Amino acid sequence: MGNWKNFVKNLCLKESNVEVLRAEAERGFEDYGVYPRSVNKVGNAVVMMVRGDNEKYLVAAGDDTWLQNLKGTETEEEGLKIKVCPLSYENCNVIREIFPYTNPQAHKGRNITIGLGDRLGLASPGHIETIRDLDVFPVLAQQSIRELNLTGRTYKEVISAAAWAVFQEGYTKGYGADGDHLKTADEVKMSLDVGMTMITLDCSDHIDNSAADADVSELKEKYSRFTKEEREKWEARYANKTFNTGSHSFHISEEDMVRLACVYGGAIRHTVDIYHNIIAKCGRPIDFEMSIDETLTPTSPASHYFVAAELIDAGVEITSLAPRFCGEFQKGIDYIGDLKQFTEEFTVHAAIAEHFGYKISVHSGSDKFMVFPVVGEKTNGRYHLKTAGTNWLEAVRVIARHKPDLYRRMHAFALEHLEEAKKYYHIGAKPENIPDIDSLKDSELPDLMNRDDSRQVLHITYGLILQAKDENQNSLFRDELYSVLYEYEREYTEALKKHIGRHLRTLGL
Ligand SMILES: [Zn+2]
Repeated sequence: MGNWKNFVKNLCLKESNVEVLRAEAERGFEDYGVYPRSVNKVGNAVVMMVRGDNEKYLVAAGDDTWLQNLKGTETEEEGLKIKVCPLSYENCNVIREIFPYTNPQAHKGRNITIGLGDRLGLASPGHIETIRDLDVFPVLAQQSIRELNLTGRTYKEVISAAAWAVFQEGYTKGYGADGDHLKTADEVKMSLDVGMTMITLDCSDHIDNSAADADVSELKEKYSRFTKEEREKWEARYANKTFNTGSHSFHISEEDMVRLACVYGGAIRHTVDIYHNIIAKCGRPIDFEMSIDETLTPTSPASHYFVAAELIDAGVEITSLAPRFCGEFQKGIDYIGDLKQFTEEFTVHAAIAEHFGYKISVHSGSDKFMVFPVVGEKTNGRYHLKTAGTNWLEAVRVIARHKPDLYRRMHAFALEHLEEAKKYYHIGAKPENIPDIDSLKDSELPDLMNRDDSRQVLHITYGLILQAKDENQNSLFRDELYSVLYEYEREYTEALKKHIGRHLRTLGL
């Protein structure tokens, strides 16, 4: 593996047909380590991504002015100029200019879009291989601020990892980049500045959950804080009215209306402000997702309708909206709740979304196999689904299979730091349900990734595991973990194809 120089010397010099070069790279991948679909000819140079002993590189063979912009080491072989470049953010920007399909883009108009958050920056090739032949738009770069902090990554790194994967895979159909669960104007600005193409605005800080069950006098006091203009508008539009969306109708009484206004009024103001002052002004198409899913109680049809109607009336162009559904969407495990009730309520939410012309978004969508058929069917195949943690768990599975010693240490560390991780994520896992790891044989370790309790414990501790350091500031797991996943790159890709493939099949794709 890694004899890419032979590929360059024997072939790039003599053969100018890119398809022939790609076919040869594919046939001889074990020897050359040249990613077949990354082979491209631009001007007088052939560029490709290669697999080195410990990391991947971009190799450019030949001579052309655009190569000057790449930073790397130059050599010459039999009169052929060769430049070997690290997969840096700067070099990625050069590639993104030369190959426009490696830039993230908005997905407006695409029916099925799937968020494939990749916390390690290693999963996108597997994701691309999974969806390549399907009519699915992948949002390969998707990360929340919380995830950035927990993994110690930046949006530049997140986009760059996705763009390099797209280049490696020669995936030309487009992908998105989601600044997920952003809360403030500054976060939105920062995300747009680095090129995110989708903004998911999390309004939870502006939703007044206490108004949902406030008594009448308290409610009146809250309501009086809105302007006369706002109140008159809401009263005229919603009080004592029945609304129809598709085959579903619901009634909003005057008290309901006041409650809706008090719970969501602040979130609507905040959203309208951010949308018009930042997102609409950024000068390129952006997919805007409104997220009201981080609330204590499920979103009622009236709440959903009210929020959407108000935003659309204020000129906000919504691509997708994430309600909070009944039941529990816990991390890394299947849906917990009453499937019949979910189906009924989801059907109404889907009808409201269809009425207004945007897509329903399902968050924490990793491993929710029970509800996927409902999502696929009741939306008539128009939805956004977000996954992230499950991709990390597949990486953990590869580690458990091949580096049991590393897995054992990660497992023990995760259990030790569980309470810390629970500050960020709510899970129902009970450590006492997890078998004592010392009693398990190495061959039994991968099976821990099939059990809910151990899945969740490893799921929510990813940030602590990735950032853990010893007293000399050396990483406890990170470097080793990345090197195992590099060694078993193909296996990780295959694991993702299998697992995310199962998601897609269950959705009806
Ligand atoms: Zn969410």
